Amino acid sequence: MKKFAILLFITFAFTVLFGPNTLALTADKVVIPDSLQELDLSDQLDVYFDQNHLNAKQILSKTDEFIPLSTSNPSGDISDTVYWLRVNLENDSERQRNLLLEIKKPHLSSVTLYTLKNERLQKEETIGYRYPFDQRDYKHRNLVFSLDLQPNASTAYFMKIETDSFFQAPVSLWDPIAFSEANYMNQSIHGIFYGIMLAMILYNTFLFLSLKEKSYLYYILFVSGFTMMQAVWDGFAFQFIWGDFPWWALRSNSFFIIWTSLFALLFAKHFLQLREHAPRLHRVVTIFNQVCAISLVLPFFVNIGTMTMISTGMATIFVLFLIAIAWTVRLKTREARFYLTAWSLLFIGVLLNILAAYQLVPLTDLTLFAPKFGAVVEVLVLSLGLADRIKRMRKEKEYETKKYYVHTLLQNAVKQMADMDDLASLSKQGLHCLMDVTHFEKGFYLSKDEERWNVLSKVDVPEEMEDFLLEQYDSWKNGKNGILDGSTFTVPISSSTHSGQFVIWSTQEEVDLSIMESFLPAFIDQFTTLVVQKEDVEMLRKSAMHDHLTKLLNRKYFLKKANEIYEESDSASLLLIDIDHFKRINDTYGHLIGDRAIVFAADLIKRVFKKFGVVGRFGGEEFIVFLDKTGESQALDWANHLLEAFREEGLLLEDGRSIYLTVSIGFCSSQAFSYLTVDEMIQLADEQLYHAKRNGRDQVAAGS
Ligand code: GH3
Ligand code: MG
Ligand code: MG
Repeated sequence: MKKFAILLFITFAFTVLFGPNTLALTADKVVIPDSLQELDLSDQLDVYFDQNHLNAKQILSKTDEFIPLSTSNPSGDISDTVYWLRVNLENDSERQRNLLLEIKKPHLSSVTLYTLKNERLQKEETIGYRYPFDQRDYKHRNLVFSLDLQPNASTAYFMKIETDSFFQAPVSLWDPIAFSEANYMNQSIHGIFYGIMLAMILYNTFLFLSLKEKSYLYYILFVSGFTMMQAVWDGFAFQFIWGDFPWWALRSNSFFIIWTSLFALLFAKHFLQLREHAPRLHRVVTIFNQVCAISLVLPFFVNIGTMTMISTGMATIFVLFLIAIAWTVRLKTREARFYLTAWSLLFIGVLLNILAAYQLVPLTDLTLFAPKFGAVVEVLVLSLGLADRIKRMRKEKEYETKKYYVHTLLQNAVKQMADMDDLASLSKQGLHCLMDVTHFEKGFYLSKDEERWNVLSKVDVPEEMEDFLLEQYDSWKNGKNGILDGSTFTVPISSSTHSGQFVIWSTQEEVDLSIMESFLPAFIDQFTTLVVQKEDVEMLRKSAMHDHLTKLLNRKYFLKKANEIYEESDSASLLLIDIDHFKRINDTYGHLIGDRAIVFAADLIKRVFKKFGVVGRFGGEEFIVFLDKTGESQALDWANHLLEAFREEGLLLEDGRSIYLTVSIGFCSSQAFSYLTVDEMIQLADEQLYHAKRNGRDQVAAGS
């Protein structure tokens, strides 16, 4: 059985705590079965702990002090004790038997095999990490001796074991053919393990070279260290890599334990973003990492036994940190889930192996190699997690870039929108901005005007579609796609005075609107602010131009507008209208009714002239009308029409009575051949008004 011990130091702790302590009878002689395949000698060995470094002769005087290995419980600390193992093998067959004795722990420093012959210990071979690999008779990663057993004879074998690490000696006796068969199988499984690990290292190295992401580097260094640590424990490193360098072979174990701890934690820190999630733990781990980094040089200076103690201590702290990190991040992030899954799989592998060692589950190849299998899966899952994280980081980065882009776009759009004079052009700019961000192709802006929706602006929507779109509007408002193909997107806008709605659509089936989440609130906010601003400005502009009582243009803006229109014209007429005896209205009904009478007159004048001309309040109860491109006779017709209207319609009072007003009109017209300015026309009209008053009121007076 391959001793499971130090795959992880957790395992080691388990072994120390719960090591087998059942008493086993030590047979004086182990009779070799005829059909020997593998015989586990662990329970048949006697051990003597030699603190005084006795020689082979002296040890023979201690034969009574040997105790069964299975009751001795030797592991625990590292000392310079020399361990003597003894086993008595009996060949009761008629043939000589060539067998193999295997110590399934490769990194013992020195093991010497003695046979007891003629009351003397005869040295057969010395192997171990202290001696070059090539000197071994049997070239195997584990420590293997070949034994020649004479027919019908028993031989006592002694093994003198020195170790700079913990003492463990799982010893088996093998039939050579069975050994090579088992070995073949064993090597194949190891081959697969190291092959996968190497592939993972190479694959992630390529990723690191192209992505330049630190987590990959730590991952590679961690997995390389871990793989080397395994190779050291399996004996392959000594067999294939540094078999000629015993000095390094004895130190490599500590070196790679510290290396693996260091980079496993560095990886965990970066991968799990420990700094953000657990800043305090991050600080402590960082300090430990610094200690690890410095300790990497220790194996080159410190005595091997001490170094093993140091690295074991550090590995224990590493495991504690690993547990602390796992506990802190738990399942908080996606990375944490990958991370926990990975380490749990390794843990399960180690656990299975321990259970098998204690015969709580069957000892099969699966349970034997479970830790290695766990390690492979762990490394795979971590690599997947890393790939997943990089993918998401890239997406986030892309999203950020896009966010920045659309916000710049919005800023520019806001600048342009701010320059717009009216809501129609403002909303058109807004449409362009929305379409630029979404890459939608068409759109329009609806505004609500007295319970009716109107298309205020549009982009790429043909005229004849407008009515249809308005019809469809309700279904879009309810989030349905209406009849249009592809996707529609609506953006409602509302201020205290304005309700509007952007409707944009695309014929593409799949649209990515994730960016809208961050863009839309800012857009709506900016657009609404601009709408309110424009409305305020519009209101101010209107109130500056209009008389607040009658809502007609005031004198200043009337003149401005009349002059503007008159610039392009060659004929025009002008009327000055004054209510007759208005003082009496005030005197009879009071000023409030007087005001209403003025509004009534203004509305009536507006009704008659608005379509053809510009109407203004000239002052008090006087009104002014400018009729562009209107000849004298036509204008006089309308003036008379107005007089008629006043006669027919009166201001209706609450008590049912009506006040009938009359007006006097001064008239003036300008032709190409007798051109007059607006001011001149007003002056002439005023003179005519005076005439009209004098001639009895309720009439038009015209002059030229
Ligand atoms: P005439 O027929 O000669 O025009 O007589 P009249 O009484 O209308 O005389 P005049 O046009 O000189 O007087 C205008 C009066 O209208 C004077 C003023 O008290 C009144 N008035 C002017 N503006 C307002 C107003 O905004 N509200 C009210 N209630 N009265 C006004
Ligand atoms: Mg007047
Ligand atoms: Mg008057």
